[in-house]
Amino acid sequence: MQPRLAIVGGGPAGMMAAIRAAETLGDGSRVVLFDKNDRLGRKIYLTGKGRCNLTNERPWEEFAPHVHPNQGFLKQAFRAFSNEDTVRFFTALGVPTVTLQGRRVYPASLVAGDVARALERRVRELGVEVRCGTSVGHLSDLAGFAAVIVATGGKSYPVTGSTGDGYRFAEEAGHTVTPVFPSETALLPKDYDPGLPGLEMKNVGLQLYVDRTLVQQEQGDFSFTDDGLESGIAYHLSRRAVWALVNGQRVDLVLDLKPALTEEQLVNRIKRDPGPLLPKSIMAPFLRAHPGLTDEKLPVALKSWPFRIVDYKGFERAVVTAGGVSLKEIVPKTMASRLRPGLWFCGEVLDLDGDTGGYNLQIAFSTGALAGVSAARSLATSVPPREP
Ligand SMILES: Cc1cc2nc3c(=O)[nH]c(=O)nc-3n(C[C@H](O)[C@H](O)[C@H](O)COP(=O)(O)OP(=O)(O)OC[C@H]3O[C@@H](n4cnc5c(N)ncnc54)[C@H](O)[C@@H]3O)c2cc1C
Repeated sequence: MQPRLAIVGGGPAGMMAAIRAAETLGDGSRVVLFDKNDRLGRKIYLTGKGRCNLTNERPWEEFAPHVHPNQGFLKQAFRAFSNEDTVRFFTALGVPTVTLQGRRVYPASLVAGDVARALERRVRELGVEVRCGTSVGHLSDLAGFAAVIVATGGKSYPVTGSTGDGYRFAEEAGHTVTPVFPSETALLPKDYDPGLPGLEMKNVGLQLYVDRTLVQQEQGDFSFTDDGLESGIAYHLSRRAVWALVNGQRVDLVLDLKPALTEEQLVNRIKRDPGPLLPKSIMAPFLRAHPGLTDEKLPVALKSWPFRIVDYKGFERAVVTAGGVSLKEIVPKTMASRLRPGLWFCGEVLDLDGDTGGYNLQIAFSTGALAGVSAARSLATSVPPREP
């Protein structure tokens, strides 16, 4: 029998790896795709609030700063399968795309299921052997395969099947797994005012201080939810904020409600027009947070409303997992393990994550495509086992 490739994990990375491997081999039956769920790509159905922000249109130079912790690692995979390739790929599969605010790309139908189903259809059309409802326990269970790709995802939203199994596989193969922590997640302030959840903040500024040092600032939108400061710019700050909390550091966020105006401009604006500066809904919690606020202090308070962050939403609700299989032990040109011949990694299981905006799915597609092609090429050149 011809040597075969096993892919563990049928998320976006694993399905893309299976498609590219089957296309490269010209024989999908030599590829076996395992997923513990009863259907493929379960997490994709939840992405982008059910609309699936499948990539971001920004060119590499603008895309790269949204990739952590080592954007350089992704460069070759992105070149091999870029955001433009993603758009072409889905269009060819009958899923045309549309670009919305922030250069975020979605299926034109705005239905995430269309993306998941298109990937699954292509996997099956190529004749890949799909084994759903099969949880792989150990790498050694796959000893009969000539090559293995680990595409098991991270630990976020474990109900979708992403429970961190790949970290165990990596360690079984002697790999280093850097500490994992939730990212793109809600940040909970101390003494959280019950009047805040439900408020949407539009075009505000947020500064992140770790141990009283300013480390990051963003301008844009976010929401106050039951879980704290969530989505948009709050998510962008959450990676550093969570890591600091994990390490026992002090974390403060400072909200600027009027980022377009300097303090001086605000003073003049208040003198000129004493009308309301804030919507009623935000005014009440704002005044509660600033008891005894005088007119002189109002401009400063509007530009620097402090929140001491004491907690964050864990893996059960985080969009992405930061940390993972150490990039030092993976060849960026192929996604192959430097330690174990015949082993590849792709997707969120790697120590590679992106901001919200379509970056994480593109990481999955780029690294998945590259791992699939590389693993298939290694099979094409490997000698089939001799018949007994
Ligand atoms: C709510 C939510 C919304 C998101 N929205 C977006 C968005 O709009 N845009 C974006 O770019 N990113 C988004 N993301 C992030 C993105 O979905 C992930 O980064 C991406 O799915 C990672 O792909 P992956 O294939 O590496 O892993 P996963 O999608 O996690 O897939 C891993 C698969 O492996 C399977 N598996 C795990 N262990 C085993 C095992 N032992 N045996 C067999 N199978 C196994 C799992 O069942 C799972 O199907 C979102 C994430 C969440 C949680």
